[in-house]
Amino acid sequence: MKQHLYLLFFIINFQIVSAQVFTQETIQNNGDNDKRLNLVILSEGYQSTEFAKFKTDAITYTNTIFSTPPFSEYANFFNVHIIYVPSAESGADHPGTGSTYYETNFPIPTTDVDTYFNATFDSFDLHYLLFYEIDENYANNTELKINSVLTDNFPTYDQALILVNSPYYGGSGGEFPMASTDPAGQQVAIHEIGHSFFNLKDEYYPGDIHVGEAINMSAESNITAVKWKNWIGTNAIDVHLNGTTSAGEKWYKPANGSCKMEVLSQSFCSVCKEGMIEKFHDLISPLEKYSPNNTTVNNPEFPINFDLTLIKPNPNTLESSWILNGNAFASNVDGVTIVEPDLNTGINTLTTVIHDNTALLKIDNHETTHISTVTWTINQSTLGLETIESLSDYFKILMYPNPASDSINLKFESEATEMITVDIISVDGRKIVSKTLSNLNTSTLDISTLSSGIYLANFYSKNVLLASKKLVKE
Ligand SMILES: [Zn+2]
Repeated sequence: MKQHLYLLFFIINFQIVSAQVFTQETIQNNGDNDKRLNLVILSEGYQSTEFAKFKTDAITYTNTIFSTPPFSEYANFFNVHIIYVPSAESGADHPGTGSTYYETNFPIPTTDVDTYFNATFDSFDLHYLLFYEIDENYANNTELKINSVLTDNFPTYDQALILVNSPYYGGSGGEFPMASTDPAGQQVAIHEIGHSFFNLKDEYYPGDIHVGEAINMSAESNITAVKWKNWIGTNAIDVHLNGTTSAGEKWYKPANGSCKMEVLSQSFCSVCKEGMIEKFHDLISPLEKYSPNNTTVNNPEFPINFDLTLIKPNPNTLESSWILNGNAFASNVDGVTIVEPDLNTGINTLTTVIHDNTALLKIDNHETTHISTVTWTINQSTLGLETIESLSDYFKILMYPNPASDSINLKFESEATEMITVDIISVDGRKIVSKTLSNLNTSTLDISTLSSGIYLANFYSKNVLLASKKLVKE
């Protein structure tokens, strides 16, 4: 035990001593880092004299990533930064210990170079597996090194990518995906980011130890029950066998030969795209700024402008509704103007509700709906406007299973709201049942006595409709 503690101390101490700050540069800047997803590209096997090449290579990679759907639609959600990590020598190691077939037919010169993260081909004896270190034992040390470079230089990164200055085909996934500058390396990088950032599985059979429930892998083969059931029949999505484990368990995938998680030259399948967009929304709100923002208004004058700055997908699929004192006021605009006759004496409430209506999400199928709101409380006295206070919120609303027969689970997560209400409404507009939900708690609603058919689940915060989800009762 003592020895372990000593070792731990030594490692921590070593980390502090070796803390190094490198030059960094932003190569894709769409706005504030704290409102964006931050992709950080680290150089490996580039000497400091080759940093201009590293920048050019990183820009090429970035352009390819953000011309690939759904990154292309959501490019505004991302900033990209590069960290110039110098290596003593160029390239990557190639010990030549891959299989004879590959070493003979796809030769890479044998090299042993001194590079910062020690990238090497033939990792785990696989010719094309370009990894930091030759095997798991050595890799642990290098992982500490990668972590400390990120912590010392860009601790708020969302995803890192290590770009290796080698013209030969190769790459690897894991926490820190790695790709070479071989032209196919760009597609390798995107596939590996699919694993690392979005937890997507391979849609070619990845081997028994890499199977499991994921966005794009399931042991469920029934097309009415599988998690991508609402995509079945659209864009060639179905339930395809993706191999059988030695334990005899079968695994299924949504696409067959038509997803980047199986074939590098393909796009991501609809199911993977949906999962990726869910992750974007999970991590950031499309609401960047709003005004007025917590302003106490003195000697105010009408008209008053209320404005949003939104991080928009391209094409813009964000929708907004504006509600003044419970009544619809405007929709799908980034700002409204309020004049004196619009307001009552006393407290007025203006709320805007923003959500992404992209067709890349199957709205009735995906579990979590993300909603941004801003509420302005406008205090108008007989003497005139007194104060305008504002509050923004970001909601995640979950409802599952759907379709359901006996009960549904309802949950919401919010930054600023403790309670919301859900009303279950029949197709003829009758309110069947109403339930109050509290932040972060899952509530179960008994729907066993409802007749089969389609209902709406309307979610309200302080009488403002946040979301309307279709509920199918079986
Ligand atoms: Zn896929």
